[in-house]
Amino acid sequence: MKYVSTRGEAPTLGFNDTLLAGLASDGGLYVPESWPQVGHGDVRSTFAQRAAEIMAPFVAGEIPETTLASLCRDAYSTFRDPLVAPLREVGENRWLLELFHGPTLAFKDVALQFMGRVFDHVLQERGRRITVVGATSGDTGSAAIDGVKACRNVEMVILFPKGRISEVQRRQMTTVDSPNVHAVAIDGTFDDCQDLVKAMFNDSAFRERHQLSAVNSINWARVMAQVVYYFTAIEQLHAVDSPPVSFSVPTGNFGNVLSGWIARRLGANVGHLIVGSNSNDILTRFFETQTMTATSVVPTLSPSMDIQVSSNFERLLFEMNSRDGKATARQIAGFRTGGKLSVTSEQFGTWIRPSFRGQRCSDGDTLAMITHMYRTYGVLVDPHTAVGLVATQSCADPDEPVVTLATAHPAKFADAVEQATGVRPTLPEHLGDLLSRPERSTELPNDLAAVQRFVASASATR
Ligand SMILES: *Cc1c(COP(=O)(O)O)cnc(C)c1O
Repeated sequence: MKYVSTRGEAPTLGFNDTLLAGLASDGGLYVPESWPQVGHGDVRSTFAQRAAEIMAPFVAGEIPETTLASLCRDAYSTFRDPLVAPLREVGENRWLLELFHGPTLAFKDVALQFMGRVFDHVLQERGRRITVVGATSGDTGSAAIDGVKACRNVEMVILFPKGRISEVQRRQMTTVDSPNVHAVAIDGTFDDCQDLVKAMFNDSAFRERHQLSAVNSINWARVMAQVVYYFTAIEQLHAVDSPPVSFSVPTGNFGNVLSGWIARRLGANVGHLIVGSNSNDILTRFFETQTMTATSVVPTLSPSMDIQVSSNFERLLFEMNSRDGKATARQIAGFRTGGKLSVTSEQFGTWIRPSFRGQRCSDGDTLAMITHMYRTYGVLVDPHTAVGLVATQSCADPDEPVVTLATAHPAKFADAVEQATGVRPTLPEHLGDLLSRPERSTELPNDLAAVQRFVASASATR
């Protein structure tokens, strides 16, 4: 399997190079040259077995099947539920897919536990070491740290905005006792952290010297690993030959819902894809108007979806442009300069209207849904999951089977859950002592030179 860039100018790469590159050299995102047919498998298989079967065609020729199987076994043994992604019925034709049983309590663990292991495998084979640098507003940082904490060939530096993330989120990063993990509190906002990371990547000499790499959601491996649970959810429901199952996805960067679209492309029995947004509703507005218009970010109760643009949308746009990289690059450039991106009515009618539904949700609606789920089903849901449930309620027919993705554990966002229900959700046992574990982090000013000095001292090539 080869990978091409959505902007058509970067070299075609195999899976391992695509993994290490993250972003393509022309600024585009890598996608497989063609979509293989995968189809549904044996319902008695474990999640790890299905993961290896579904991902095999994407790593063919680069990672042997037995190696892939053992990487998956190892990655998914870290989940507290033996099913990894179990379903819970919540009313007629409605289910929650619990994706929060991994080490850091959010769905990002599903991809990042796998990715840390596949990174280490490829680097070991090549005798290379890299420095992963990233910025986080919460969930990505802790999931990425947990994914790479045992990697021998990866040093990791994560910048987070000091005093602007929850205590649980901070402690999940600062209490990891691995010498290759460096959590850095920046005296600034999340945008400042992101700008510092971008500046380091744009300094090509610095990037080369310290072998910088990224694990954010533009990396193909993350999208690929998320495809698996769309298949396994349908298999758990024994709905392989039944009417298609729709999925409602609380959405930020469009990575998770794109994985659902890909699952359908690979032969999964997926119906509609329902996109739930909080007040940062660029996608909902696109579904209403055929135009994407950037606005500023507002903080909400579902902070992991507080985004300005959904970067993974570019992969779908590339398909909408019949895989014309030049046309895609032109559209993205227009969006960067003018803040607007439109598609034609034909593109919209072919690619969007039949497949996607979208709904925005205020913080008030979010809290009301958390209250409703607790009163009606006795289930505590986190605010991101609640956004997905609101979207299900307004976009799906009563007789349409819908799985809403539960993307975070309620204890990760305990304040909002307590506000809505009066009940404070407790952390799972393995994190029970999180609030008393010793913390280890470095504080730095919002200053590029200071951050670069720190990265140089921590880097894999020092
Ligand atoms: C990251 C995240 C999301 C958004 O996922 P995308 O792939 O960016 O759309 C939703 N919920 C939670 C809890 C998250 O951590």
